[in-house]
This record gives sequence, structure tokens and C-alpha cells, in this order.
Amino acid sequence: MSSVGAPTRAALFDIDGTLLHGHGSGRRAFLRALEEIHRRPIDDAGFSFAGRTDVEILKKVLAQNDLPDPTPEEILHFATLYCRHLEHELSLLDGPLLYPGAERLVAAVCARPDWAPGLLTGNLREGARRKLASTGLWERFTFGAFGDDHEDRNALVPIALRRAAQVYSTELLPGRAVVIGDTERDVACARAGGAKVIAVRNGWDDGVALRRAEPDAYFEDLTDTGALLAALESLTAD
Ligand SMILES: [Mg+2]
Repeated sequence: MSSVGAPTRAALFDIDGTLLHGHGSGRRAFLRALEEIHRRPIDDAGFSFAGRTDVEILKKVLAQNDLPDPTPEEILHFATLYCRHLEHELSLLDGPLLYPGAERLVAAVCARPDWAPGLLTGNLREGARRKLASTGLWERFTFGAFGDDHEDRNALVPIALRRAAQVYSTELLPGRAVVIGDTERDVACARAGGAKVIAVRNGWDDGVALRRAEPDAYFEDLTDTGALLAALESLTAD
């Protein structure tokens, strides 16, 4: 991550399903780490990882397998193994991870001095770094809030904005922040933090539930950079 500038607005990008498609790599790494720790098959059937924080997923999967909540030390141990498996899983993937338009949109936001480009993701920070480093995007973001900052995604907007304030030495108001995400949970976390939200379907299901969550703007994908920038601007206008 890099720094500097004097922005007045923050773009808070979700990662999975928004900027990139992991092709199941994160989920496979998650299960392999848990199976390595517990030395038994782990059942993760029956619920979606989408929009949840990694610690929330961890607790849910453990409970489903009649295993107790992890201690902070066990979470750290899990994170180490998970990141090792993730690195391996990412190395096996063919083809581009990024959704069409993702790189162009992030570059366009970064090119605007009044915008602070940040991350807001349920990924553990180290997992986020590995996923984005494999695409070349990690260095573009100057701050972020991650799954190891808080188990509850709805707590992440103020954490992200505190980080931005540290990086830029200026306060960024939640009403001048826009979450860009692909699930109803992204919409909910923006609302909880007083931020605006752009929802992007990116091919996930039919988009009905996402539209029903009433994001401030809805896009089928990230390909129309001009329209997305216009939405970012209008949502944060005075
Ligand atoms: Mg997502």
C-alpha cells in the first residue's frame, strides 16, 4: 500500500465477487487449513461465504462441525495456514482473476486526487493482500478495513475511515464514502456506517435480492467506468 494526497471522498472496494473471482480458491484454502488443524474432514455445506468476514465464516464452519469457537491464538494459527494454502490455490488458477473493468475503475479512482482508494472486505488482511497482489492491484489501495479488524462486517466502515484519516491526516466523513460491493451484506455495512453504496452484480445469481436491498446505485458489472465514476461523484456531492 502507498500513501499521500488530500482527498475528501473515499471509495471502499469489496474484493471477492466485486473486483475479482477467486474460482473457489479461498474456500478451498479455508477448508484445507481447517482440515490440517483438526485432522478430520470439515463440512462446509449449506451456506454461502459471500459477504461474510473470514472470522465469522470460521466460527460458523467450526460450529457446523461441532467444534468450539477459536481462541485469538487459534485464529492467528488458522490465518497462517489459510494464507499458505491460499497462495498455493491462487498459483493453480488459470486465466484472469479480475472482473472486466475492475482494473480500469480502480485506476480511474486512483487518478482523482479528491478520492481515497480503499478496501472494505471480510478477508483477513493477509488473505486480501495475497489475492490482490496476484492481480497487481494491492499497491493501488492506500488503506483498508479487513476481516481481522472486526468479526462483524457492519463495523468496518468507521474502521476504514479511521485508517484513511491516519494515512491522509484529514477526516473523511461517512457521507462522503461509497462502498462498492456485490452482496446485500455490503449494502448493510454501508448503511450501518452511514456510507453510500454501489452494488455490482458481476453475474452472481439474478441480482433480485441485491436490488431489493436498495443500494444507492446498481450496476450489472464494472465495465462502464464513466457511469461508475459519475455515480461515485453524484452520491458524494454536496
Ligand atoms: Mg463480495
